[in-house]
Amino acid sequence: MTSEIEIGLYIFILAGFLGYHVISRVPPLLHTPLMSATNAISGISLIGSLVVAGADYGPVSTLLGFIAVACSSTNVVGGFLITDRMLKMFKKEQDHGADRRGLRPWRRALPGLLILLAVVLALVFWFRPFHGDQAGPERRTMALKYLYILSAVLFILGLKGLSSPKYARRGMFLAEFGMLLAVVGTLFHPQIVNYLWITAGMLIGSVAGGTMGLQIPMTAVPQRTALSHSLGALAATLIGISEYARHRHELGGVEMTPLGFEVVIGGLTFTGSLMAAAKLQGLLPGAPITYKGQNASNFTLLAVMVSSLLCLIVVPSASPLFYLMVVLALLFGFLLVIPIGAADMPVVIALLNSYAGLADASMGFVLDNKIQIITGSLDGTSGFLLSLLMCRAMNRSAMNVLFGAFGKIEKEETGPAAEAKGTVRSIAPDELGVLLDSARSVIVVPGYGMAVAQAQHAVSDLAKMLMKRGIDVKYAIHPVAGRMPGHMNVLLAEANVPYDQLYEMEQINPYFAEADIALVVGANDVTNPAARSNKASPLYGMPILEVDRAQAIIVLKRSMRPGFAGVDNELYYNPKCMMLFGDAKDSLNKLFAALKA
Ligand code: NAP
Repeated sequence: MTSEIEIGLYIFILAGFLGYHVISRVPPLLHTPLMSATNAISGISLIGSLVVAGADYGPVSTLLGFIAVACSSTNVVGGFLITDRMLKMFKKEQDHGADRRGLRPWRRALPGLLILLAVVLALVFWFRPFHGDQAGPERRTMALKYLYILSAVLFILGLKGLSSPKYARRGMFLAEFGMLLAVVGTLFHPQIVNYLWITAGMLIGSVAGGTMGLQIPMTAVPQRTALSHSLGALAATLIGISEYARHRHELGGVEMTPLGFEVVIGGLTFTGSLMAAAKLQGLLPGAPITYKGQNASNFTLLAVMVSSLLCLIVVPSASPLFYLMVVLALLFGFLLVIPIGAADMPVVIALLNSYAGLADASMGFVLDNKIQIITGSLDGTSGFLLSLLMCRAMNRSAMNVLFGAFGKIEKEETGPAAEAKGTVRSIAPDELGVLLDSARSVIVVPGYGMAVAQAQHAVSDLAKMLMKRGIDVKYAIHPVAGRMPGHMNVLLAEANVPYDQLYEMEQINPYFAEADIALVVGANDVTNPAARSNKASPLYGMPILEVDRAQAIIVLKRSMRPGFAGVDNELYYNPKCMMLFGDAKDSLNKLFAALKA
């Protein structure tokens, strides 16, 4: 067992490096699909759950396994479906309309489906138990190991595909195929004797995941991602509890270590992610909930949890301590997230994504399942990288996000920005129509307000009309515009904006000086010049879209209220800036009508 853990650790570390190499090549354009793809792949915890639900380990393990199967299959089905939905939207200018000219979708999918069917039938034939087959269980166990290696390779190739929107869907098909191989192969695991709870769990999970994957609007992707982290973490925790209940008298300190990690990280990720999903969905107040001594009490709780784990490593059979540790982990996840504002949830989600990966990898150690160690490590790396990228783009540290209660304290603005206040000019849609008609180049700057107003289609329609009139239109995408990495890219792709019209911040900034109009649609913080000049501003140091360099700036928002950072935007007092007040979608529709007239 010790040598298995040693091998597992090597695999974990190497997979982490490989994951870093592959995932750091995913462009910001595809960061949202990356989140849901790693989420779907980490649903490989399904294979461990299938064995626990179907083996004869006693009623408690069967029940816990059944719930874990339902949770993991929700993640697999929902994660892959929503990733595919997003990736289908990313098209280049020349690809638009190609579907209509080509074969019908079902005819294009037919060869692939036939190959899938053939592979599944071959697996069933190879794995089937037959009369007089003495070496059956050994043969199946061996074959399963090779199948898992193949699946792991397919997962890595799948993530590699995300390095370009062109190959992303193809890559995801490989990952889906890998998942299918692993799951179908596991169904023939020698220890599985009963399929009732497996079938029920998979059915429930597929219906829940399918509904989520197909129905959820793109604006609700952050909360779906948080929810699926919580389901993955719950599966890992339950399997950990089941394994502890079965083996607590045989466990040594070495085996107890990953098991302890599994339930602690799984437990806190479960409640933490549930809280994050509830805040993003608006079921709980988005503002940070803080109280005196909060950080101190949280650190005390963490210390008690770590001490319990250390005691359990010395005395693994101390079951009351084990269950107390699980309860503390659940409580800790809850307390960790309540002081964090809703707008910081994306960083929290990405961090919880990496925790869910760690819980998954720990489950791999506990069940001696190498593929879970690999996927857990990949998931962990992806979440960690994304949270670092977000923090860097916001010019904040992870510590500030987790313990800073950002958005709670009213900031007293001092320094140059506060003094820069002056007159604010507004503009009516028909006046703006005339201005736009005379422009040669327009840069559209979408932000969180575009998502709130669901104005992506209206933006796209307006841009198309301008382009038809010979006006050059580009979209400027800030890495943290909106509320999750790649948020604007997904919304604009949904509105059929070709991804070759979307420019990242470093690419677009030099173009602003040449642009006649910067059209800011519901963006605020990511355009605030205080980030460059006002050392007292909480935004100071954050790289911004340099809209103030354009010849004219038009801002679409409802009021003078600040954005997420809670600071005034000195851009609005710039003599070149004009405000079109109102809901972004309404304003764009009025503008569209004015231009048409
Ligand atoms: P923002 O600074 O939050 O501003 C959004 C603006 O949209 C608000 O000022 C609001 O003004 C306006 N708005 C809201 N609803 C609207 C509607 N229906 N129609 C028109 N306007 C509407 O957004 P941002 O510029 O996109 O910046 C994102 C912020 O989130 C940054 O501070 C970033 O650091 C933070 N953040 C992002 C991520 C990420 O991954 N993307 C992660 C964590 C934090 P009114 O109320 O006046 O309309």
